[in-house]
Amino acid sequence: MSSNHLHGNLGPGLLQEVAPKVFSYVQPDGTWFINNTGFVVGENAVVSIDTTSTELRNRAYLDAIASVTDLPVTLLINTHHHADHTHGNYLFSDATIISHTTCRSVMMATGIPDYRAAFPGVEWGNLRFRAPDITFEGSTTVHLDDLAIELFDLGQVAHTDGDVLAWLPERGVLFTGDLIFHGGTPFALFGSVQGTLDALDTIEKKGAEVIIPGHGPTFGGHEIKKVLDAQRAYLRFVQETAENGINSARTPIEQASVTDLGEFGRLTDTERLAGNLHVAYREHPEADYEWVGFENAIGDMIAFNGGALPRCLA
Ligand SMILES: [Zn+2]
Repeated sequence: MSSNHLHGNLGPGLLQEVAPKVFSYVQPDGTWFINNTGFVVGENAVVSIDTTSTELRNRAYLDAIASVTDLPVTLLINTHHHADHTHGNYLFSDATIISHTTCRSVMMATGIPDYRAAFPGVEWGNLRFRAPDITFEGSTTVHLDDLAIELFDLGQVAHTDGDVLAWLPERGVLFTGDLIFHGGTPFALFGSVQGTLDALDTIEKKGAEVIIPGHGPTFGGHEIKKVLDAQRAYLRFVQETAENGINSARTPIEQASVTDLGEFGRLTDTERLAGNLHVAYREHPEADYEWVGFENAIGDMIAFNGGALPRCLA
């Protein structure tokens, strides 16, 4: 399926006012390059958290904002450098863009990555590169009228090097970026398995009422502990699987091939196991492991799929 058939059988992005003037935009089905965004409407301006992957998807997101308000988006927050969250930056022409310092550095080094080989069915559109304008490390606060939007990093590598979360304390709303894949397989290839586990503790301590994850449905209240525990269970499973592989002198792909995913087989994008294992091997103190590079790790994900490219419906 290509973007010519925007949304296809997946349905359009779901716009929801999760708290007064705070909106989530959740794109089904949350798989590769189909991420979430959100925005906050002030008296004179709008703040957006992230953009999305293809030109058409970004234009649909802008339409969703316009269905709520005529006000311009004057500030755009990038939660991390990944293309699905930043490709639309150039379409927010009224916005100043803010990100973590490392997020911007990575974007400047990579530009718009060429995904045509790995994701040949996707029509990305006429994308243009735009990097963040303002960067920070640690934390900073955006003030939208009298509403605070607290931006903070984790002090360590987690989903990526340079993750930023957006927390609205007066509304109890937390945007986590890809530290959470709700219903999908967590993906730590560009970051750290242990760092993502630690990030989940940070997220839990915020005491949010509503969480907008990077992919998959928004959740809140009593669901929060359940979703966070499910993410933890998967990441610990990756660590235990790596431990087994190291003890059995198997390479990550050899270990992935003999692993029963069990309950985690129900998550989408299961081939991420092969990539995640490379990171868990790298992080294991006793592993005799040499990092193979992203291309080879992604090659292992394709091998795990029996040679099929990851299924991408963006
Ligand atoms: Zn990501």
